[in-house]
Amino acid sequence: MSRVIVIGGGIVGVTSAWALLNDGHEVTLLEAEQNIAGQTSFANGGQIAVSDSAPWAAPSVPFKVMRWLGRKDAPFRLRPRLDTAQWRWLYLFLLNCRGQALSAGTERNLHLATYSLSCLQQTRSKLGNDFSYDDSQAGIVRLIGNQKEADAAREYFAKHHQDEKIIWMEPSELAAKDTAFEPAVKRNLIAGAVMGVTDESGDARIFATKLATEFENRGGEIRTNCRVTDFISQNGYVQGVTTEQGDISADRVVLSSGVASKALAKKIGITIPVLPIKGYSVTVPIIDESRVPISSCTDLKHRLVISRLGMRLRVAGFAEIGSDKACDAGRAAAARDRLEALFPDAADYQSFDNWMGFRPMTPDGAPIIGEAETLRNLWFNTGHGTLGWTLSHGTAQLLTDMMAGRKTALDMKPYKIKRSYVSGIFG
Ligand SMILES: Cc1cc2nc3c(=O)[nH]c(=O)nc-3n(C[C@H](O)[C@H](O)[C@H](O)COP(=O)(O)OP(=O)(O)OC[C@H]3O[C@@H](n4cnc5c(N)ncnc54)[C@H](O)[C@@H]3O)c2cc1C
Repeated sequence: MSRVIVIGGGIVGVTSAWALLNDGHEVTLLEAEQNIAGQTSFANGGQIAVSDSAPWAAPSVPFKVMRWLGRKDAPFRLRPRLDTAQWRWLYLFLLNCRGQALSAGTERNLHLATYSLSCLQQTRSKLGNDFSYDDSQAGIVRLIGNQKEADAAREYFAKHHQDEKIIWMEPSELAAKDTAFEPAVKRNLIAGAVMGVTDESGDARIFATKLATEFENRGGEIRTNCRVTDFISQNGYVQGVTTEQGDISADRVVLSSGVASKALAKKIGITIPVLPIKGYSVTVPIIDESRVPISSCTDLKHRLVISRLGMRLRVAGFAEIGSDKACDAGRAAAARDRLEALFPDAADYQSFDNWMGFRPMTPDGAPIIGEAETLRNLWFNTGHGTLGWTLSHGTAQLLTDMMAGRKTALDMKPYKIKRSYVSGIFG
């Protein structure tokens, strides 16, 4: 048994701490803020999106970004900065937009997301029925707005999925299956739909907070308001960390601090291409359950994800590079308006909670998992980008298996710290 420190109490840090505790380690989780899951894991879209886990970089993206320039409701927004890290990231992202890289990245993410879902299911069965987090196992429906989106979806699903996990629906079939879609179908807002039946959804913050409590009940330690400022090392091995509450020693340390991982990695001379990409969510209270979709959905036209979380309905989306921490009310209102257009009278749309968070994103859309070459026994599990809630359960187990020297369920080459960051090229 070794003493392990996990830095960061978001969904990735909490699931890592849990998996390590279950593997017999003595684990301390350090969180800079007062609460667990108070940053990017606080109010995300809620989707466990296995069937649609492709990286964002795709051949069509550069053209779309150009077309959207200057538009207020544009799903992507780029604010160029005099920052070489941003330009290098964008260059790598462009390389990932090639068809070959997209294919390799999609296969990679699909394997990881499928594995991650099985790990989540194991955690759930271990914790029993009381362990709920406003979750739903009713799949995710992709709402198709036009013929072009339908063609792209058909190509994607034919290439990457087994038929029995996917259901195609005409608008009338969708409305018959779930009457909540009737108003949108009547107004011709939906041209078709495709459902990933094994997909799930749930509140990542509630999950992380409850899992953190289980972790403590089973002997794990959590220290909040405990920001890590540096690593303590001797002879090339990590010995612990320096924090605002003093030094804490450990045999091993795991870096899982979301967008802050980059600055901490810099302390040991490692540069990781993790860029903070801003997104928004709006949560509204449900007033008529019959008008709320049973499954989570993705509105492909506006790149918005919509999840029912208990008696709340949440819409999330947008991607902004180079933005500050301001929560642009116009962006949030655009998302809310679309939600209301799709599901009128389902919720009290005047009583909303706006939120923004930064996705810790790598250019190839894959997380970073492995041991630091420059400081042994320091491990990374970070950079989960758009899919942290979907992938965290699996990456926690992969990290734990690697630390134990066991064979991992997946090939770990695509996740190495030192890699090309172009999907399919390991370097
Ligand atoms: C709008 C939006 C919608 C999204 N929707 C989805 C979705 O539907 N499905 C999905 O799978 N993913 C989604 N994501 C992505 C997902 O939310 C993230 O990938 C995930 O939350 C990242 O988790 P994390 O633990 O790495 O980071 P965080 O949740 O940010 O956790 C990192 C923690 O580390 C702490 N920390 C930082 N520095 C230090 C330090 N020095 N010492 C100690 N602690 C430190 C922070 O305070 C923070 O609590 C979405 C993201 C956004 C923004």
